[in-house]
Amino acid sequence: MHISNERYFHERQRHDLALRMIRHEARTCTIRSCTGLTDDRIRRLYKTYASYMPSAPLRRRRGRSPRQVGFFVRNARAQLESSMLASVFATFGLWRAQSSLQQESNPVGSIEFGRLFCDAYETHRQLLRTADISFEHAWFLLQLLTRNAHLHAVRCRHCDSQYLRDRVNMLRRACPVCALKRTGAQRG
Ligand SMILES: [Zn+2]
Repeated sequence: MHISNERYFHERQRHDLALRMIRHEARTCTIRSCTGLTDDRIRRLYKTYASYMPSAPLRRRRGRSPRQVGFFVRNARAQLESSMLASVFATFGLWRAQSSLQQESNPVGSIEFGRLFCDAYETHRQLLRTADISFEHAWFLLQLLTRNAHLHAVRCRHCDSQYLRDRVNMLRRACPVCALKRTGAQRG
């Protein structure tokens, strides 16, 4: 069977992205949405990856995708990390704080979008050594930010940092930077 160079290149891109997402323990449905690979193909890739990398055991995420908004603002530390990740998304052009528009050149679900998302997520983990947000939670956070319904970015009047605030939960409205500073001062 003749496979053109272009098609080979495209297939290669899809598999490279799938493997990159597998390393981050992404769900099959998330990988499928960006690569267009079938579930069966993704399952086989997972197996192959696991057999080649026995030192890095992977957990394939099963069950429902994350859907609790409260996860991102459950305490000041989580709220700060979510806010930092949102800034990274904005830096990579995946989200604009001032609008709910997605970047048009890389529609959600394309290979380019998937790559950009991996770039942003990997950058976040490099910047924050204690990063706690999983790939799937990061994926969910970007969906929430894009929908602009539950979380929104505001600027603190005291320290000028931008942070994410829950529109509904009144308990999670304070600036996490100021809150953590206060906790540190009390301890010290
Ligand atoms: Zn503040």
